[in-house]
Amino acid sequence: MNHCHWIALILSLVAARVAAVKVGIVGGGIGGASTALYVRRLFGDDADIELFEMGRLGGRLAVEELDGHRYEAGGSVIHTKNRCMMELIESLGLQTKPAMGGTFGLWNGRELVFTSSTWSAITSAKLLWRYGSDVFRLRRLLSATLAKFDGIYSLLDSGAAYDTVEDLIMAMDPSLVKLTGLPLSQYLKLSGFQEGFISELVTAVTLNNYGQRPDRLHALVGLVGLAGAGDELTSVLGGNYQVVERAVQQSGASLRSERVLTVEFIGESFLVTTGWAAESDSRQTRSFDIVVVAAPQTEDQPSRVEWLGLPAPLQFPGTYHQLSVTFVEAKLRGDPFSTSTVPDDIFCTAGCSDELNSIGSQTPVNETSKDVLGDLSVHKVFSNSALGKELLQRLFVDPQRQEEVSWRAYPQYNPRLGPAGLGNFTIINNLYYLSSVEQAASAMEMSALAARNVANMAYTRWYNRSPPDLRKIKHTEL
Ligand SMILES: Cc1cc2nc3c(=O)[nH]c(=O)nc-3n(C[C@H](O)[C@H](O)[C@H](O)COP(=O)(O)OP(=O)(O)OC[C@H]3O[C@@H](n4cnc5c(N)ncnc54)[C@H](O)[C@@H]3O)c2cc1C
Repeated sequence: MNHCHWIALILSLVAARVAAVKVGIVGGGIGGASTALYVRRLFGDDADIELFEMGRLGGRLAVEELDGHRYEAGGSVIHTKNRCMMELIESLGLQTKPAMGGTFGLWNGRELVFTSSTWSAITSAKLLWRYGSDVFRLRRLLSATLAKFDGIYSLLDSGAAYDTVEDLIMAMDPSLVKLTGLPLSQYLKLSGFQEGFISELVTAVTLNNYGQRPDRLHALVGLVGLAGAGDELTSVLGGNYQVVERAVQQSGASLRSERVLTVEFIGESFLVTTGWAAESDSRQTRSFDIVVVAAPQTEDQPSRVEWLGLPAPLQFPGTYHQLSVTFVEAKLRGDPFSTSTVPDDIFCTAGCSDELNSIGSQTPVNETSKDVLGDLSVHKVFSNSALGKELLQRLFVDPQRQEEVSWRAYPQYNPRLGPAGLGNFTIINNLYYLSSVEQAASAMEMSALAARNVANMAYTRWYNRSPPDLRKIKHTEL
């Protein structure tokens, strides 16, 4: 090769680097991490990806340590039909473990109105005895809903992308959009379910999964919650947060441990300024072609970004539900539940006061069996405010060791808003907001699904053509 060839080669390499699309992602939870990975899969080496995380990678996927063992403190169970999460887990080389299914009881604040058996056939018979055909009706309803939901995967695989959450849900099935305007309780009553079934079993599930009652949740998120209480549930051995860590690693994104303060639109591109509010000399500004914000932006979020230079001010209505997760190492008392044999998990029904949602016995993230624990008895308590000392003493025998994690856990849902309460993914060309998907339903799968959609949209808008079908590309080529 002569001199000229070398120069031409170097210039073309430099040009290729200069031409790389600069993608900035705000938020290192499952939403931001899977966006980084999907962008890498679609754009290949043509993207320079930077991911900003002000805290710990994982966001609402986190473990809490108690007495040398680690437990899921945030998002814990994954439905095995959640194709995005299951594909991520597998392709990132992680292993799953079945979600432990012990015995459970439904508590009305005075007594257990239902207790399951260690034998699943007996539990089914008891459920049938108490709730009649509603049990089968719910199973049918959930499998029909999951089948509608399933349609979105092949659409996204083939490159489809949606600007709004409403369009995404509409693409699954138009009937699902209507569910966002109806309280779950009303929807179930209209579908023929009995009042007792809704106030006991359904309320127990929605309080446990969303800290909210069925008259406060819209029917779509309510059904997602009910599906998340079935028996095809799993979690990642060692902790779900690893999906986030590995996705960021495999995406090749540069991780910036910085807080994003502002995102400014400057015509063709965006300036992202990071730093800590109190330290003006820590500020840094970088320029991006595409920005994806994967962190909730409602007014109650202390770390929301400031948006500058946009044609119109942005609004992110609503707030997030405040949830307290307390780990307690102690045995449960029997008397509050009017029983001598306390089940592994206790779920509150409509009769409970607002001070408690559920109590679940825990297995460490790296154990697949409860047998290893011997006498260790760790419970995870969900409540909408910090657990008082008096309540702790009432529920547990000599509660010594406790750890509390407080979350802005998921949106405070409002069925009155209907489809108008579902926001947009596309803010303006090349600027995307992923967390709007949570107004339809907050779950790991929803954030991953939104990431897949936003990556498709970013590609489509950037190259003005549909993205490649990833099913036809072998993983080794990605
Ligand atoms: C207690 C609890 C239990 C749950 N149980 C389940 C479950 O069993 N199954 C399930 O599927 N889902 C569950 N969820 C919901 C699930 O955890 C969330 O829907 C999901 O983790 C949200 O991921 P995300 O990436 O969209 O947001 P997040 O995880 O919130 O990630 C956003 C990230 O952005 C960062 N950030 C915010 N602002 C800035 C800024 N200005 N600059 C830089 N970084 C910023 C934050 O630090 C955070 O890490 C649960 C949630 C909670 C809290």
